[in-house]
Amino acid sequence: MTDSLMSTYARLPVTFAKGEGALLWDENGKEYVDAISGIAVCSLGHANADIAKAIADQASTLVHTSNLYGIAHQQALGDELTRLSGMDKAFFANSGAEANEAAIKLARLHGNNQGIEEPQIVVMDNSFHGRTMATLTATGNAKVHAGFAPLVQGFIRVPYGDLDAIKALAERKDVVAVLVEPVQGEGGVNIPPADYLPGIRQLCDENNWLMMLDEIQTGMSRTGKLFAFQHYGITPDVMTLAKALGNGMPIGACLANDKAAELFAPGNHGTTFGGTPLACRVGLEVCRLMTEDKLWERAEELGNAFVAGFENALKDVDGIDNIRGQGLMIGIQLNKSCGPLVAQALEQGMLINVTADNVIRLLPPIVMTDQQVQELIEKLSTLISDFLS
Ligand code: PLP
Repeated sequence: MTDSLMSTYARLPVTFAKGEGALLWDENGKEYVDAISGIAVCSLGHANADIAKAIADQASTLVHTSNLYGIAHQQALGDELTRLSGMDKAFFANSGAEANEAAIKLARLHGNNQGIEEPQIVVMDNSFHGRTMATLTATGNAKVHAGFAPLVQGFIRVPYGDLDAIKALAERKDVVAVLVEPVQGEGGVNIPPADYLPGIRQLCDENNWLMMLDEIQTGMSRTGKLFAFQHYGITPDVMTLAKALGNGMPIGACLANDKAAELFAPGNHGTTFGGTPLACRVGLEVCRLMTEDKLWERAEELGNAFVAGFENALKDVDGIDNIRGQGLMIGIQLNKSCGPLVAQALEQGMLINVTADNVIRLLPPIVMTDQQVQELIEKLSTLISDFLS
């Protein structure tokens, strides 16, 4: 790697040259199975032919005009995402952090409009919401904060999965919103108790707080529903999306419902690039491909196969604390740090991730074949048992 890039990433020693479906090839032609999908982005696989065609077609028609003018594909994607989610309105950005910035600004407006001068947003321990100043402050990880003081004001942190901790804030007059991931991804594939999100919904209704779901990682079919909140029969007031919405084309979206959808007025918020004809054309194609074949059902099927497969292959291995998953967000928690497994897996042609120090996290593409799933379970289980022995 050259010195011309800022030192923001601890990169692995590999550079990929091409991909197809769940496979990648490096510059030397070595093949890898991708069980991380560019961090939950390429759910429809690498070099997806329909996506490639949409990009090429749109690139040779119209790429960018700016939000000074109407954008037909942005309107169409807004219509489609609101139809699919039951939300009322959409704002388009370029990344997850930016989508969350829009959500945070909605919460501030919701508070300021009621005369609350210092509105507070409830956020969770071990959460991840991005790297801009507001979203890194919302993030519940001291390493992400380190060195960036002064942080942004207006966030109260509570433990994830603990409804009582949120309930205890109901007496405060300055709380305006709760921002939470339906499953914590970076935090270690943490799946909350089944009554958690419905409980937050109820507390938000009782206290006039906005329920804001960060579905940047969980959204777009990953957990076995198109949106993770659909597991619970509730609708949030605000939801953010990014990652798989573009299958690699940068795009973020902040959707809002009812009163939250009416908060922004011209001049409150904006972006040069957000919602370009190109990004939104791709977003529409992703929506079409996911809904036409109900790909969230395939995500659930593959996720169940992974968890059952690992449970079986690792049942006699000492040192496995827990194997868990919701759809294709899968976590294998070991009883010790396991960072070195990432490089070892890479050596053997597997792309995996380790988060929260001791959780192997898999975010495989939905297009992975049954055979690729079985081979991955076998190879990775052997690697894990060797590591623990
Ligand atoms: N929110 C969640 C839940 C995420 O997982 C991420 C990225 O990993 C983000 C927000 C930030 O998204 P981006 O990196 O596109 O800014």
